[in-house]
Amino acid sequence: MSEERSLNFLEEIVEEDIRNGKNGGRVLTRFPPEPNGYLHIGHAKSICLNFGLAKKYNGKTNLRFDDTNPVTEDTEYVESIKADVKWLGFDWANEFYASDYFDKIYAFAVELIKKGLAYVDDSTAEEIAHQKGTPTEPGVGNAYRNRSVEENLALFTEMKEGKYPDGAKVLRAKVDLASPNMLMRDPIMYRIKHAHHHRTGDTWCIYPMYDFAHGQSDSIEEITHSVCTLEFVSHRDMYEWFIANLGIFPSKQYEFARLNMTYTVMSKRKLLQLVNEGLVEDWDDPRMPTISGLRRRGYTPHSIREFCERIGIAKRENMIDLSLLEFCIREDLNKTAWRRMAVLDPVKLVITNYPAGQEEMLHGENNPEVEGGEGGRDIPFSRELWIEREDFMEEAPKKFFRLGPGLMVRLKNAYIVKCDDFRKDAEGNITEIHCSYIPESKSGHDTSGINVKGTIHWVSVPHAKTAKVRLYDRLLKVENPSEEEGDFKDYLNPDSLKVIQAYVEPDMATVEVGKGYQFIRKGYFCLDKTSTPNKLVFNRTVTLKDGWVKK
Ligand code: ATP
Ligand code: MG
Repeated sequence: MSEERSLNFLEEIVEEDIRNGKNGGRVLTRFPPEPNGYLHIGHAKSICLNFGLAKKYNGKTNLRFDDTNPVTEDTEYVESIKADVKWLGFDWANEFYASDYFDKIYAFAVELIKKGLAYVDDSTAEEIAHQKGTPTEPGVGNAYRNRSVEENLALFTEMKEGKYPDGAKVLRAKVDLASPNMLMRDPIMYRIKHAHHHRTGDTWCIYPMYDFAHGQSDSIEEITHSVCTLEFVSHRDMYEWFIANLGIFPSKQYEFARLNMTYTVMSKRKLLQLVNEGLVEDWDDPRMPTISGLRRRGYTPHSIREFCERIGIAKRENMIDLSLLEFCIREDLNKTAWRRMAVLDPVKLVITNYPAGQEEMLHGENNPEVEGGEGGRDIPFSRELWIEREDFMEEAPKKFFRLGPGLMVRLKNAYIVKCDDFRKDAEGNITEIHCSYIPESKSGHDTSGINVKGTIHWVSVPHAKTAKVRLYDRLLKVENPSEEEGDFKDYLNPDSLKVIQAYVEPDMATVEVGKGYQFIRKGYFCLDKTSTPNKLVFNRTVTLKDGWVKK
């Protein structure tokens, strides 16, 4: 984790509450995803915040599925959310579902009706919107607002029993039609929806609205600090009104700025469109900003937590540069990833003075700084090698310290070679480079006395494994599609995925899916879940340097 930093505003609030002995010093937060999609990096920020806050103050965090909307929710999403939170390194105290509280929330509604604080309204959505007035004009009450407690109780019971079709009636809180906060102008508490729910099945045909479920769920669980994003600032009055009028546990709502990031979209609705329209492979396509996409891309939980820590907690909307996320994974993998050689754009190099059929095992490091990697690895060497096409130039400029006619270079972990000749095809493409090697120049045992400036990577032709390598780039070609005209899908980067054929060291055929490797000079890569021993597939996690800085 980063060095000491000053407290963020939420930590200040919690410390003050603890000092004042509020809730007996107890801290209980919750992470409340709606199971209508996969989690994205914005959710990671909320997860790190909620779990981090509780952990810091000896508290706990509940995982609560905010599943009050039967239409869009699914158990597939529930499972993916649990897996992602665990993978990020957090454990919840309890797994709860807002739908488990439907009975209690219904009883709360009945209580408010009995107190004369809620009524059944038969108006259409348009009528309700119209009667609400505008920010400068107060709303007007309708006749339903004066229904008696008995009538409201009877009608609400009938709503629950399924007597009315969708949209025929709603239950509203009787708050204040002149409130400067439009959300306080008699908000809807319950609506009729004859829909199958992923947990409660067909038990219910009325469902509570967000404002009459979220705070109530917080209160039922005795959440002390209910942290949400800034869009909910205007909902806070309702949150407090319902809790106060029900006289239930006084959970408190606090808001912070949601994470926005350049060159991507961060809304489940938009991500779902990309999946449904086949514009990406799935929710875990490595170009997606989802936790599962980042995992498949090769991001580590540590790098994501570090990113969330570095961006901090703000009270105002801001836009974070994607390159900061990339910086965090690069920094992590630089420390932890084992090194390997892979040739992404191959051309053949023949060592004419190395006997055909001969081979030897050379030695290379894994990553001397990582525990378990000390032993290093064996690298097979032979007369024919693959090297990168860009490491040879027919007419090399002065400072080109790689291969060209007459030039010498060190082959990483192997020998110094000198280029004697090369072959071209009819189109002028280099097809083969002929070199001679200096037997006394073996790495670690070099007695040749020759100094060369450049070192290039290679793999032995008869030993190399063929692999498909997917080179990923930004999902979008603009920083922020909401500042552009038209739909965000008009701005998808057509070059966000490039698939190439590469050669890798033989032991890359047996590595673990998702584990990061540095292909030296080329970037960080990991084995994809679709890879098989005969058809290797690697994903590029990130390049070695930020190639976009100059642009
Ligand atoms: P989306 O708009 O992507 O669908 P959401 O807010 O509808 O997101 P929820 O499942 O309701 O998604 O969110 C669960 C929690 O994660 C909420 O507390 C929400 O405020 C938080 N959250 C969602 N998106 C972000 C974000 N971009 N940055 C920080 N927190 C977020
Ligand atoms: Mg939501």
